[in-house]
Amino acid sequence: MRAERRRLRAGLVGVILTLGTLWVLMRVAGLTVIRTSRDPVELPPSVASTARSLGPMEDRPKNIIIFVTDGLGFAHLSLARAVGPGIRGEATWDRFQAYGWHQAHPVQGLLTDSAASATALATGRETRYGALGIGPDGESLVSLFELAHGKGHRLGVVTDSYVWDATPAAFVAESESRENAGHILEQLARSELEVLFGELEDVGEDEVPEWEPTIELLQTRFVLLDETLRGPPGSEPPTPVAAIFEEDAIGDLESKPTLPEMVAEALARLSSDERPFLMLLESEEPDSASHDNDLDRLLRGMKAIEAALSEVLDFSRVDGQTLVILVSDHETGGLALTISDNTNRNLKALWASKDHTGTVVPVMAYGPGAEHFAGTHTTAQLGQLLAQLLAP
Ligand SMILES: [Zn+2]
Repeated sequence: MRAERRRLRAGLVGVILTLGTLWVLMRVAGLTVIRTSRDPVELPPSVASTARSLGPMEDRPKNIIIFVTDGLGFAHLSLARAVGPGIRGEATWDRFQAYGWHQAHPVQGLLTDSAASATALATGRETRYGALGIGPDGESLVSLFELAHGKGHRLGVVTDSYVWDATPAAFVAESESRENAGHILEQLARSELEVLFGELEDVGEDEVPEWEPTIELLQTRFVLLDETLRGPPGSEPPTPVAAIFEEDAIGDLESKPTLPEMVAEALARLSSDERPFLMLLESEEPDSASHDNDLDRLLRGMKAIEAALSEVLDFSRVDGQTLVILVSDHETGGLALTISDNTNRNLKALWASKDHTGTVVPVMAYGPGAEHFAGTHTTAQLGQLLAQLLAP
């Protein structure tokens, strides 16, 4: 009896040890699989047919600025606050009036990219990974820019990435793939944009056109500004203007120009008369830095973002009629912060990935209508809210 019990106990211990070893091995190999309830997908309505009612809209803003911080997660935010005045004093991030988080995914899964996420924001519809401005079946979608133009808004795009990159493109163009640079650039040249500031990748291979023909194409709509953001006579607002810089020319506060300088110029132009405006502002730096797990680049980029953010929040505070929303499109890098030594004063950054991750990401709002962005939403619902807040 006792021997039997001993055998049973030994067997049990063996099973527990085996399961424990397997669990440890899976954790070490990163093989822990969590089943999700991600399917089937119920498609939300688009910005053209918004179902989410906000009730009376006494707080409707005149102007809207959408600031997309590509790849920024909550740990990126904690890092920026930790190295700035944010832990003890007021950080720029603390000036918002409403905070929330949103879940971004494409229709077919969990991890998203800038194209699908920006399309959800720009059109109020989730779409396929990599698709721009179109629905999952390739159908054309109405974007916030189209709605705003129809309502008499002036339109602007400012980015520290390529002007044809996924985030700006989702607002202005339609394409089966974010890689169709030529097709996207043609749509930018035919757009109603009054301001277009950003970089141009010039690899001259595959679908990416060469520098010269691209500049010629953009000049069919825009007067070109120089690197100090000045233009020739006749480039005063509301003349459509573009400032195009080489790849990686804009990144941190040493760049010429910097992101906050581009923002200040764009705001001066878009607010030069009584008409309302809609501006898309993007920083790609958190995403690019986090794909490389490059902490120095991330910190420099976050400083430029904070300075650009100060510009738009100051504008909104003085103007009193401008809604600013800062929204991330997905997290990149799986960034985590831990303590580097036993003084509990220094942080260490750990990266879990070199790609996008599936965590929820922040949204913050300031100005008239900000309160609607508090709490939890899907990215598409944020787009629907913005559509309803556009001035009638
Ligand atoms: Zn990315």
